[in-house]
Amino acid sequence: MTIAKLARKTVRELTPYQSARRLGGSGDIWLNANESPFANEYNISCSRLNRYSECQPAELIQAYADYAGVPKEQVLTSRGADEGIELLIRTFCEPNQESILYCPPTYGMYAISAETFNIATKTVPLTADWQLDLPAIQDNLDGVKLVFVCSPNNPTGNLMKRQDIEALLDMTANKALVVVDEAYIDFCPEASTVDLLNQYPNLVILRTLSKAFALAGLRCGFTLANNDVIELLLKVIAPYPVPVPVADIAVQALSPAGLAKTKFQVLDLCANRAYLQAGLSMLNDVRVFDGYGNYLLVQFPNADALFNALWDHGIILRRSPIENCIRISVGNRDECEKTLAFIREQLKQN
Ligand SMILES: *Cc1c(COP(=O)(O)O)cnc(C)c1O
Repeated sequence: MTIAKLARKTVRELTPYQSARRLGGSGDIWLNANESPFANEYNISCSRLNRYSECQPAELIQAYADYAGVPKEQVLTSRGADEGIELLIRTFCEPNQESILYCPPTYGMYAISAETFNIATKTVPLTADWQLDLPAIQDNLDGVKLVFVCSPNNPTGNLMKRQDIEALLDMTANKALVVVDEAYIDFCPEASTVDLLNQYPNLVILRTLSKAFALAGLRCGFTLANNDVIELLLKVIAPYPVPVPVADIAVQALSPAGLAKTKFQVLDLCANRAYLQAGLSMLNDVRVFDGYGNYLLVQFPNADALFNALWDHGIILRRSPIENCIRISVGNRDECEKTLAFIREQLKQN
């Protein structure tokens, strides 16, 4: 018997998430993982590493609660927002019985996390203008415990209408949780649904330091929810989920100076996004969708050929499953200029 045969059937049949890192590539310009181009400096102390970390480091929880504008009882921290997704699924869905619902095209980890734990996935595609199809969701809520809504949505970049999220929260009251993935909300904080937490016991919000805070490598995310949801998640989370250096760095990122730096960098990236959007929009047959995160979804006449030409030239973007679309992360100005110039050259419209 081979070792592979010892694995659970589910795992043998699983296709892992095709993260930007796994897809590889080689080049100088990496605009494929919605990472920040800013590499900020932090202080690390190694004087307490003989001791376990606090399960939920109090200083970190308080700092994020203050940033998000919620009481600390409504905050849980985990290994990135991805672990938040996994914890929610493990806490609320009965394997082989219950399901999650999500609305493609959207982030791939909801489905993969669910499949890993033998939770069925129901999909209700977004409408033609990439909004929630509420009647179709209503028709598919049987056995659904979690509905994932990503806003700004990855990879399309648009925001979900607030009144639709509220309608969805009403529709699922006492039946399912609505998980609003706000991984990119720091680029458009006014669109957050965090103010709805007190009104809706079934609302859960996912946040991360990976995008606007430029800390993808730190692996630090947050789940915001009412305290009874947080208490349940704490029953399932690992005993020491947050390494001491991670908590130390995250607290620095959330200090007044850290927040000011992030705000500045967000403004800088939004200016670069506008530059890319304007430059690409000027090209014939190119359609740039309005984006509210640190990335743009762009439709080209022949996306495969262009993607490959960029790849060969060392400009690594992300091919989207949407027809002829490429997702471009917003880099620094130099990266955006080089990418735009190469695309213009390829489309021979310069
Ligand atoms: C990047 C991303 C995440 C994962 O964030 P981590 O905190 O790095 O795990 C979650 N949701 C969406 C939509 C993302 O784009």
